[in-house]
Amino acid sequence: NSEQRPLRRPEWLKVQLKTSGDFKELKNIMRQGKLHTVCEEAKCPNIYECWFHRTATFMILGDICTRACRFCAVNSGKPTELDLEEPKRLAEAVVQMGLRHVVITSVARDDLQDGGAAIFAACIKEVRKASPDCAVEVLIPDFMGNRDALQAVMDARPDILNHNIETVERLSDRVRSKAKYARTLELLERALAMQPTVPTKSSIMLGVGETWDEILATLDDLRKVGVSIVTIGQYLQPTRKHLRVEKYYTPEEFAELKQEGLRRGFKHVESGPLVRSSYHAHEQASDVMGK
Ligand code: SF4
Ligand code: SF4
Repeated sequence: NSEQRPLRRPEWLKVQLKTSGDFKELKNIMRQGKLHTVCEEAKCPNIYECWFHRTATFMILGDICTRACRFCAVNSGKPTELDLEEPKRLAEAVVQMGLRHVVITSVARDDLQDGGAAIFAACIKEVRKASPDCAVEVLIPDFMGNRDALQAVMDARPDILNHNIETVERLSDRVRSKAKYARTLELLERALAMQPTVPTKSSIMLGVGETWDEILATLDDLRKVGVSIVTIGQYLQPTRKHLRVEKYYTPEEFAELKQEGLRRGFKHVESGPLVRSSYHAHEQASDVMGK
């Protein structure tokens, strides 16, 4: 119950944030472009490694979400207006940072008719034009199941289409706001049908009360709809108000899940306590598309 004290964080989750001069320069690029990165805003522990490998995750469409998932630290409320120049500025930042792999994600914009899909498509096109060698991965919201919105994104041909399942079926409604387990699977299946050569990807976060068998069943469900890349990481509670951590999985358990994933036929499985959706994204990409 909520009166219980939070579990103590195990040693393997205590990482030191390293910074260097290079970092300041990169951060200036972000500020000048009025851009948000998940890397900075989520205080992601992998930022040094990712940016060193020229991978970054941008959050477009503002920083206020129309939903309020119980695990997520993004502010919810009424979003600001649409910034039509954002795709151009994002593409410029990708050039300035010399990125080899960019992940573009957003808050859920249920206030927009297309959920922001047109801006996603524009971002893919602008980055392609400016940095033809940079792999473009989009981590999209579910657009409330809007098929045309998904089609607009797929027509822009991202290198990877990513949409997170987040948790197992039984806990989905409790953990996520408005998203539906079945709708997530449907989106992943549709995306692959629309562009069969664009690999699909999804993420599961562990530690919100799921059982081992439920994790395996979720992996099965993702494989059934043709997902080829899966990432599995530990949920960490952003503040006391958020969903509490029910279990910290050990590195050995994560390693076991990686094997379970590979056995099921995923082409790339990233599984570990600090794994985030975009962690080692450049390696995931090279496994499935040779970039
Ligand atoms: Fe950024 Fe993702 Fe890497 Fe974290 S894991 S630093 S959010 S690219
Ligand atoms: Fe966070 Fe995405 Fe949920 Fe919005 S929809 S609260 S950004 S996880």
